[in-house]
Amino acid sequence: MQAKREDLAAMLQLQKVDLDILQARKKLDELPQRAKLEALASKHSQLDAKKEQVDAIKEKAESEVAKLEGEDNMLAEKQHHAQELIDMAGQDYRMVESHSRELESFAKRRDTINDKLGKLAEELEKVASLEKQIADALSVVTKDEEELKASYESESSVLREQLSTLEAQHDERAAGIPADLMKLYEKAAKRAGGVAIGVLDDNRCGVCRTPIDGGRLIELRSQAPLGECPSCRRLLVID
Ligand SMILES: [Zn+2]
Repeated sequence: MQAKREDLAAMLQLQKVDLDILQARKKLDELPQRAKLEALASKHSQLDAKKEQVDAIKEKAESEVAKLEGEDNMLAEKQHHAQELIDMAGQDYRMVESHSRELESFAKRRDTINDKLGKLAEELEKVASLEKQIADALSVVTKDEEELKASYESESSVLREQLSTLEAQHDERAAGIPADLMKLYEKAAKRAGGVAIGVLDDNRCGVCRTPIDGGRLIELRSQAPLGECPSCRRLLVID
């Protein structure tokens, strides 16, 4: 392939910058805080879901308590009224008997309500202790998240700054290389996922190190100063 020596040297220089860019991006992707933050986020959402469940249980129990307490108050009033009627009944035994039966049934129902209220109070106590556990865990997770985010921000901002400097260097160097060579370079970089260009080292590709046999070597040399490794298909500078 036709190419000026100085352009090939510029491509090799560009590649150094591009490899630094790849490394900086990898470092950024692999900052340990990221995986930890993801784990914390999943823990956080699990706790949120649990809190929602507990809130729903609490709401149901509280509304049941309110309903039963309302009924109990009403029964107390009815009891009071029945007692008044008994007190006023005097010798009217049938009246006394009928209101006494009423009183009995009110008292029975109030006992049942009291049992239910006792069980609900126990349930609400358990709910309160769960609420506290969840709130404590959430505050720990939130604090850990904040600390990790801060440390991620400070480390990643350094790397991002490095990256933007390197990217500016890439643009500057790429601008000095002819467009057709840049196309070849970019294609090879994409295909190889990184190193796009090497130097023919005697009879080996300077990147993948595969020896190139006689016939192919002659053909490759005939493409000087720029050919393609028959094995890894990276660009090869041929001296
Ligand atoms: Zn190769």
